[in-house]
Amino acid sequence: MTQPDMLRLLRDPNLIPPEKQNLLSDLAAQAASLGFSCYLVGGFVRDLLLRRPVKDLDFVVEGDAIKLGRMLVKKFGGKLTPHKKFHTAVWRLPSTFNLHPSFLDLITARKETYAYPGALPTVTPSTIENDLRRRDFTINALAVRLDGDRFGELLDPLNGQGDLEEGIVRVLHPRSFIDDPTRILRALRYEGRYSFDLDSLTSDLINSEALAILSQLSGERLRHELDLIFEEDQFARILLRAGKFGLLKSIHPKMPEFNQDYAGFLEMDNRLDVSADRRVMGYMLWFMNLSEEDVFSISSRLGFTNELTLSVWAAAQLKRSLPHLAGSKPSVWTYALEKLPLLSIYAVYLVSRENALLDYISMWRHVKPHTTGNDLLKRKLTPGPRFGDILSRLRAAWLDGEVQSLAQEKKLLERLLEERGAT
Ligand code: ATP
Repeated sequence: MTQPDMLRLLRDPNLIPPEKQNLLSDLAAQAASLGFSCYLVGGFVRDLLLRRPVKDLDFVVEGDAIKLGRMLVKKFGGKLTPHKKFHTAVWRLPSTFNLHPSFLDLITARKETYAYPGALPTVTPSTIENDLRRRDFTINALAVRLDGDRFGELLDPLNGQGDLEEGIVRVLHPRSFIDDPTRILRALRYEGRYSFDLDSLTSDLINSEALAILSQLSGERLRHELDLIFEEDQFARILLRAGKFGLLKSIHPKMPEFNQDYAGFLEMDNRLDVSADRRVMGYMLWFMNLSEEDVFSISSRLGFTNELTLSVWAAAQLKRSLPHLAGSKPSVWTYALEKLPLLSIYAVYLVSRENALLDYISMWRHVKPHTTGNDLLKRKLTPGPRFGDILSRLRAAWLDGEVQSLAQEKKLLERLLEERGAT
């Protein structure tokens, strides 16, 4: 791509909003005044070349990102959080830039080495060329220069542009997946997102050696990659491919394939006032058919939070108990459901289409008797378990249609109080 073509992309407001373009000019000018070259790299350039709106600004300086950050704060304001060990800084932008998110990562071009396969890398400052060579795939090993006259110059030492045009995901060297097997999940994510293909050597590198290292990775690193997969439109296809390559069983021997029939359920718009979280919903749909023991074992392997574990466990538990609950009265359903997370109930509804679950979500859970605890106090009842009993019997009567008016509720209340008097 020629510099003028790149300039056109960099000035296209449909790809980069004008506020971000202004920020880039300011960054480039300040870096140039310090004698540093600066670049946009990685996903930013990839998406720009694909003519997709860019997301994050992946900004790299050949020089000292912390020094640049200090200068930016002096000139424009905001706040700097330096990370000396990594030669990086986070600049909290002043509100004048009017940008969301209002943080910018300033990164020093670096080289990375791995103490052992799968270890987190050791970082040393280096050139942009080396910085590109430490990356995961050719399509991410691209940079656009920003400073001075070279604004808009594309750096593409590994033919990332060619691979983007051909739709190929290709690692930079044969040890790539051994150094960092999370890249396997990243490769499948790009493949699915852009409908690309893995280069054949790259796919051969997803072998037993790489999978053995993947199986040793921490739950936190694996879950982070899985979380990112659920953000993708094509998440089900990506998980299918992960299963085909044996990744899922390497992570945990009981990890099932993702049921492709459930793929549409993350997209379902949701008019039921159930706040849907794609990630939580994704894990629930994935693990809903597992035994209790396997749910807990996989949750622990992936380092799920207690809340996520509870949601998945509740969905699996509810799915198992559907045959016992089928045909029950609304009050029985409500009693069984009211302690479960709403999203778990919704997930089970999506896969089972059991109407009682929908009735619970949209109506039954809101049903309450008119009588309150205060009313019972006024009737000289002493607070205790019997209080709850009476209120829940009144609620059950409404739910099951035994009571349909305030007068009927009052009548039932009198009867219940008499029963109480009798005991
Ligand atoms: P996405 O659109 O998925 O967010 P991205 O390219 O912005 O894609 P990030 O995870 O934000 O992805 O990473 C930014 C850049 O850092 C990538 O483009 C890639 O060059 C590099 N990178 C990220 N993870 C790795 C990794 N595990 N190994 C090597 N390089 C990586």
